[in-house]
Amino acid sequence: MSFNLDKVLRPHIAGLAPYSSARDEYTGKEGIFLDANENPLGSATPENWNRYPDPYQTDIKVKLAAIKGCRPSQIFLGNGSDEPIDLIIRATCTPKEDNIIILPPTYGMYEVSASINDVEIKKVPLTTDYQLDVDNILKAVTPYTKLIFICSPNNPTGNLIEKKSILRILESFSQGIVILDEAYNDFAEEPSFIAELDQYPNLLILQTFSKAWGLAALRLGMAFAGEEIVKILNKIKPPYNINGLTQKLLIENIDNLNFVKESVTILNDNRLKLVEALEKLPFVLKVYPSDANFILVKFTDSKAVFEYLIAHKTIVRDRSKVVLCDSSLRISVGTQEENKTLISLLEQFS
Ligand SMILES: *Cc1c(COP(=O)(O)O)cnc(C)c1O
Repeated sequence: MSFNLDKVLRPHIAGLAPYSSARDEYTGKEGIFLDANENPLGSATPENWNRYPDPYQTDIKVKLAAIKGCRPSQIFLGNGSDEPIDLIIRATCTPKEDNIIILPPTYGMYEVSASINDVEIKKVPLTTDYQLDVDNILKAVTPYTKLIFICSPNNPTGNLIEKKSILRILESFSQGIVILDEAYNDFAEEPSFIAELDQYPNLLILQTFSKAWGLAALRLGMAFAGEEIVKILNKIKPPYNINGLTQKLLIENIDNLNFVKESVTILNDNRLKLVEALEKLPFVLKVYPSDANFILVKFTDSKAVFEYLIAHKTIVRDRSKVVLCDSSLRISVGTQEENKTLISLLEQFS
């Protein structure tokens, strides 16, 4: 594939010299550190956090690469997935000139981030069965299209996108970058596209510690891409974007893959039970197939159901205003107990 990252990048980004932090210029761990204006006496907290953290999270990436089957140099870590989404838009899209393509109904942050950056958004809706309309996506591409965002399993619909459609986009769109958001991949049967990275230099994969890993409050997102793209993200990120406490917690617990695996087993099982129970309710029109830890459900009157649940302190996500999701609510899979409560509440709804 002919892919020229320099042509995808905004011209000033390609030539930018990054901020060089104290921890960039001397990477040794032993010595008398008088280079970063830290407090040598310690911290105001019981544990010491007085030293700036590793700007490239090297220890984490070595372990993560082994888990994910890639090279450490193919990994970028961000303050949530929000950060790589914003960085890749800023790196590639000149405001008021370039555009991105999104495929609604999908995750809201792509549009928000592009709008903040004053970047045009082209929308090519999914088909009625929530798959890619590949022909129309490719027709929507202009010389100024820099990014195409695909989410699989898709939020809010829950389904996986067919691999052959994603491959067609990857093969046909070499003038820009395809961002494949795999936030819910842990819950799905399909393997990650990480295995395809070496074949597609135009591919950027997003994953997160917020879902199956149960670390939403830490704000830690992963991006996987070819070294060229990772280097650019590293160049334009805030130098210490992953704080020291988060890095330490993760290094100490990243081997706890059992938690992830067990969570996925339990939540997928809970999802099946929830689907079964929901399908029995007379005012449920459709329970969409899900490969994630949530379900999109179409009701006869979603507004009434939503308000009834809120009145009983049970909060689900109203997606009824979203294209192709009319009268639908998105329900996260809870514990068995929480799901039982939800179902018995719904059984009392009329
Ligand atoms: C939850 C979610 C994320 C993760 O966001 P973080 O900023 O990492 O918490 C990313 N993409 C999609 C589609 C999501 O639903």
